[in-house]
Amino acid sequence: MTFKRLISLTVVVASLALWSCQKNEPDSSGKADISRPLASDKLRVLTTTAPLYSFTLNIAGDAAHVENLLPSGTGPHDFSLSPLDAKKVTDAHVLVINGVGLESWLDKVIDSAGAQKSAVEMLVIVDTSNGIGTMNRDPHIWLSPLNAIIQVRNISDALIKADPRNRDIYAANAEAYIIRLNNLDREISDEIKTWSKKKFVAFHSAFGYFARDYGLHQAAVIQETPETEPSPRHIASVIKTIRSKGIKSIFTETRASHKIISSLANDLGLKVYSLDTLEKGEPGSEWYEERMRANLAVFKEALK
Ligand SMILES: [Zn+2]
Repeated sequence: MTFKRLISLTVVVASLALWSCQKNEPDSSGKADISRPLASDKLRVLTTTAPLYSFTLNIAGDAAHVENLLPSGTGPHDFSLSPLDAKKVTDAHVLVINGVGLESWLDKVIDSAGAQKSAVEMLVIVDTSNGIGTMNRDPHIWLSPLNAIIQVRNISDALIKADPRNRDIYAANAEAYIIRLNNLDREISDEIKTWSKKKFVAFHSAFGYFARDYGLHQAAVIQETPETEPSPRHIASVIKTIRSKGIKSIFTETRASHKIISSLANDLGLKVYSLDTLEKGEPGSEWYEERMRANLAVFKEALK
């Protein structure tokens, strides 16, 4: 063991001690960086969803190391925290969360760290929903670019606070990214203004903020609670809404239960369209804008 490694171990010892009762698994996260002294190391930022990862990549540039906690095939509704994940959380300098109850596992990490407070006290947790007017505790705030802009500002403020050396880089990157998000917002609102149909039915209540901010109306939602099968009574009320409002299309998602969607579509003669909730993926820096433009195209095909 080198001298450098000993130094860094004293820094991370608090978090390691937390998990020492767990099986000592090899760290597959590629974080060989922890063997370097903290002072010369890049800021380590951990995000909890794919959109937050994409936002943070744009702000951090090369100045910070950004990692997403969720593997690309796992969405935030089906995520459960392993001991290795918990170690990633306590090893990070900044944890970027969505908020609005999406990270239900976070309390567990903080509770288990209670005995070893220093690891959690060193961690800056950014709740990116701060300043966003939320609806019915709906966590899908990122699906409106107007909310995304607020999230980006929250992330940028936190990175600047945690790593003031790179303040100018984070501020300039955030401003450049916000200009792109403003362009995306204008593009969506200019497009939707021209549509005659504004009502839609979705599989899960993900597009409520998008609808609110761009003048669409989410008339009904099939699965109101993630991972919970809708009741026959709820399905009956959705059918009633579809008939009474003359809705002709239904939006599904890659993770949706296709049995319910296809039987509704057959019974009511609806066309099925697929939206991306941006809950899964392996995002790069332009991923958010690309996926939102793809969603706009799907809405356009169905509603224009
Ligand atoms: Zn969702």
